[in-house]
Amino acid sequence: MNIHEYQAKEILRQFGVPTGKGAPAFTVDEAVKAAQSQPGPVWVVKAQIHAGGRGKGGGVKVVKSIDDVKKEAERMLGMTLVTHQTGPQGKLVQRLYIEEGTAIAKELYLSILVDRATSQVAFIVSTEGGMNIEEVAHDTPEKITTVHVDPATGLMPHHTRRMAKALKLDANQGKQMAKMAAGLYRAFVEKDMSLLEINPLVITSDGNLVCLDAKVNFDSNALYRHPEIMELRDLTEEDPKEIEASKYDLSYVALDGSIGCMVNGAGLAMATMDIIKLYGSEPANFLDVGGGASKEKVAAAFKIITADPRVKGILVNIFGGIMKCDVIAEGVIAAVKEVGLKVPLVVRLEGTNVDLGKDIINRSGLNVIPADDLNDAAKKIVKAVKEAA
Ligand code: GDP
Ligand code: MN
Repeated sequence: MNIHEYQAKEILRQFGVPTGKGAPAFTVDEAVKAAQSQPGPVWVVKAQIHAGGRGKGGGVKVVKSIDDVKKEAERMLGMTLVTHQTGPQGKLVQRLYIEEGTAIAKELYLSILVDRATSQVAFIVSTEGGMNIEEVAHDTPEKITTVHVDPATGLMPHHTRRMAKALKLDANQGKQMAKMAAGLYRAFVEKDMSLLEINPLVITSDGNLVCLDAKVNFDSNALYRHPEIMELRDLTEEDPKEIEASKYDLSYVALDGSIGCMVNGAGLAMATMDIIKLYGSEPANFLDVGGGASKEKVAAAFKIITADPRVKGILVNIFGGIMKCDVIAEGVIAAVKEVGLKVPLVVRLEGTNVDLGKDIINRSGLNVIPADDLNDAAKKIVKAVKEAA
């Protein structure tokens, strides 16, 4: 789960991490009030969306008067902000964050994540802050330093010394770094974050370290023990299809392709996505209906797929083990009766009650393209979509 920058900064402050001072605003009036409560003479108006790259897209403006705060707030609220992380459709700006301006001497980069390869928390730091870190990693990997922290020892002075050296900090900033890294590490572990990214971490013109941006992602599996974090969830930032799927306890992830997939088992779902790509198309989603799904759950899953305007064809790929093929067939037919079917549908059923399942589909009068195996199914749906286009 992601949260907004202003929420992330509130959490970091609780752990003694220095950030700019600011307040959120949902209206232009609130933005003006927030600015008036700060000393000035420089303010930063920041669009709050769950995506980075806002600065380049016009979602971060440094201004020098309350009048300009008002102007920028009027411009940003309600705008669709497009950044390299939002995709071309952009994101609607519904909240702002008004922060006192910081005089920047240098922009650095710091993030914390869980490194699966080493099973350790890792700090990643770079002198190249404020930029797209993926580009830095690609073009100048030597400018990125990774510091692993053994969970048995926690953060030690030698870790922060290495970070300070990599960031070319002076002695005083090195001391600030030690304190800041300790606060960030504690926040990361205690709040069960999976990613904490400060880009930029700045050295101010008077030589102090301040977090100017904060992007946080939490481990969804740990959210049950953080009700205070669950309260920060902003459903308007999430894919409505994924919210609907979560109501039915379906493992669903929306993707950009054109072939909707309904599969049981995460492994088979991944294989199905792979083979769709192999035959030259792209999956529109990952969907695992799970083991013991009911007809209602299958119908809900099918409706979520058909409601996606990007879906130009559907591939149902079921290997019935605990899941029974007849339940899948009934769920699909129930959904089609309700919402219709406007795109080609390929169904591959195998396993428990397969004959019963095929029979139900055959008798339904549904225009289904039957397939014998995974290979055949993927070929057929890619072909059908091409022909329909
Ligand atoms: P992002 O583009 O979504 O990552 O948004 P950021 O919060 O990182 O802001 C983008 C850029 O705006 C930063 O890299 C800074 O260069 C600039 N910026 C943000 N806040 C301030 C500020 O308080 N003062 C100044 N001078 N620049 C700022
Ligand atoms: Mn940033």
